Amino acid sequence: MLYIVIVTPICNIACKYCGGSLKGMPPDIIYDIEELANFVGKDREAIVAFYGGEPLLRVEKVKEMLDILPAKKFVLQTNGFFIKKLGNYLHKIDAILLSIDGRKEITDFYRCKGCYDKVMEALSFIKENDYRGEIIARMAVSYKTDIYEDVMHLLHFFPYVHWQLDVVWSNLWNLREFEIWVEKIYKPGIRKLIDYWRKKIEVGEIIGIIPFLGIMKSILYGGNGLPCQAGKGAVAISTDGKVLACPIAPDFKWNILGDFKKFKEIEVGEPCKSCNVYKICGGRCLFTYKERLWGEEGFRKICEVTKFLIYELIKHRDVCEQMKDRFTYPHYNNTTEIIP
Ligand code: SF4
Ligand code: SF4
Repeated sequence: MLYIVIVTPICNIACKYCGGSLKGMPPDIIYDIEELANFVGKDREAIVAFYGGEPLLRVEKVKEMLDILPAKKFVLQTNGFFIKKLGNYLHKIDAILLSIDGRKEITDFYRCKGCYDKVMEALSFIKENDYRGEIIARMAVSYKTDIYEDVMHLLHFFPYVHWQLDVVWSNLWNLREFEIWVEKIYKPGIRKLIDYWRKKIEVGEIIGIIPFLGIMKSILYGGNGLPCQAGKGAVAISTDGKVLACPIAPDFKWNILGDFKKFKEIEVGEPCKSCNVYKICGGRCLFTYKERLWGEEGFRKICEVTKFLIYELIKHRDVCEQMKDRFTYPHYNNTTEIIP
């Protein structure tokens, strides 16, 4: 199971699509780390991910947890500003997701001026230190993004690129604007990206475009519910020790599952369970399923975009089937949610 530990809800920057620090919990962990160690220790397959806010604002706490939590894997989601403070602890982490949105002007526009350079500096530090784990560029994708250009740009530097659409809880655009962008930019860009990805597969090279890899894995092997596993195979822990389903919504009642002693599970229901792509999509995102902030129409539009991506990838099933054993990504839940 994946345990997403919110180290602090505070962030040192305030990205346009997110608005900065998380609300609804203390600025620092107030439970005893031993309690968390006991909780995690009951699970022999535990994966612990450090999350925020910006987790490395509390780097000493992260180091303490890296020392004592009995997890099989560790994951870090960070904006990269303070990565050097990890020193050699870097090597205890199995996957690092660096938040970056694509080309410099796009990243700096959404995130903050100088942000792109900071992430690149963090990436150099990781590479210079001979880091052996996974390095993932984690993008948020909104109205200024050209999905083809921005993903291709990041692939020059990162072995893996993942993105999540800025939809439903977005501060930046509404459903109509999203629909126009999908037709003009996203769908043509995705077709071009898949074309590139396919050509590389034909010569035996598998490019680390995570949504494609993860969806193809589900096409070939079948999925297992929500790709992020929120509420079942993954929980988040708030700084006051609540067990949550999804880390981004600490103040929603449905999202609070319990505490270290006892927690319930939740999952998506209809219309997902009888949807024709459920085996692959799994319901996409529990938050979107629960909070239809763009209404039923918005929910359907996002489903249409998901189905578009799935159907475009299904066209390439045959070539991937021939080397099925190479389409097993992700090998564990590394916090990449697969369906953008
Ligand atoms: S496409 Fe939509 S309805 Fe179908 S499983 Fe995914 S989220 Fe649910
Ligand atoms: S995909 Fe949705 S439910 Fe899953 S972790 Fe992300 S925001 Fe939460």
